[in-house]
Amino acid sequence: MQSNQSYDIIIIGGGPIGLACGMEAKFKGLSYLLLEKGCLVNSLYHYPQNMTFFSTSERLEIGGIPFVSNNAKPTRNEALEYYRRVAVSSQLNIHLFEEVLQVNKIDNVYKVNTTKRSYHTKNIIIATGFYGLPYLLNVPGEELPKVTHYYQDPHFYAFQKVLVVGANNSAVDAALETWRKGAKVTMVIRESEIGKRVKYWVRPDIENRIEEGSIKAYFNSSVIEIKQDEVLIQTPEGIKNIENDWVVAATGYQPDLSFLEKLGIELSDDEVRKPTYNEHTHETNVRGIYLAGVVCGGMNTHKLFIENSREHAVKIIENIKYRK
Ligand SMILES: Cc1cc2nc3c(=O)[nH]c(=O)nc-3n(C[C@H](O)[C@H](O)[C@H](O)COP(=O)(O)OP(=O)(O)OC[C@H]3O[C@@H](n4cnc5c(N)ncnc54)[C@H](O)[C@@H]3O)c2cc1C
Repeated sequence: MQSNQSYDIIIIGGGPIGLACGMEAKFKGLSYLLLEKGCLVNSLYHYPQNMTFFSTSERLEIGGIPFVSNNAKPTRNEALEYYRRVAVSSQLNIHLFEEVLQVNKIDNVYKVNTTKRSYHTKNIIIATGFYGLPYLLNVPGEELPKVTHYYQDPHFYAFQKVLVVGANNSAVDAALETWRKGAKVTMVIRESEIGKRVKYWVRPDIENRIEEGSIKAYFNSSVIEIKQDEVLIQTPEGIKNIENDWVVAATGYQPDLSFLEKLGIELSDDEVRKPTYNEHTHETNVRGIYLAGVVCGGMNTHKLFIENSREHAVKIIENIKYRK
């Protein structure tokens, strides 16, 4: 492993907020390297292909570069185009498909080991998001290839028997889209109603489809086993055995907080497990390690998003520049 490259800052994660940090570092004349384990804006790339952002495009802009969209709310494809153009026009120093595995501190310098080589730096910004770890159903059969936690495209499910697990935005979008492409859709919902955070303009659509019987929904129910051709569901009326080709588990995602803990970052004791950091500088309890983007919220992944965490980049880089 080579270990001769040294930077003012290593940024872990090439999502929108990691990119914003890279741009800000560049504006301020600091040397930096962005490390991304997948493709550019890897999380956005893995969002459903037809998804539309709830934010208007100017609220997704980073580094002051305008995001022009044909619609009030941009699509995933437009966002991929935008962030790619931003990375190109800003000539961001980014290594893709290079995952950070480990960080060690030697004297005052961090050694960052990746799947390809190692680097030295005095400052690390962690912008690793929350989309890498799905909440598992933890039932027999979840490992079957017919089960996905990353729903992509409805056409694939045409004329198939699809079970959608969950009742929030992702689940509702997957249920409606696949039903509209001819799938026979069943929803399994742990709660007694559709999720409260479902977009207000989508809620009547799903509620009406359920009421008219086009989409079958089991409320207060959960999956207990997935088999090759069927699924067992625990419902208030007892166990139901339904025919099934595919399972879309839209049960949400969680940040990899164990990665933060390994670096010595303290987490709150409650269920939020909020990382400890200074709200003004975003420096954690570990000197020289900063947090940016949605990972700052711990398990509260719905509180921070691109719109309201773009500003983290400015605060962090200002602090690093000042110290330097
Ligand atoms: C369906 C959907 C719709 C959304 N709509 C909106 C919206 O309209 N408006 C809005 O503001 N937000 C929206 N969000 C939320 C928003 O996309 C996220 O909050 C945003 O992506 C956070 O940016 P980030 O850079 O913090 O994290 P991410 O975009 O998740 O980026 C983190 C990156 O870190 C990489 N990574 C992780 N671990 C490592 C490692 N060890 N080494 C190297 N790389 C690593 C990941 O591959 C990933 O690319 C939506 C989310 C979803 C799921």
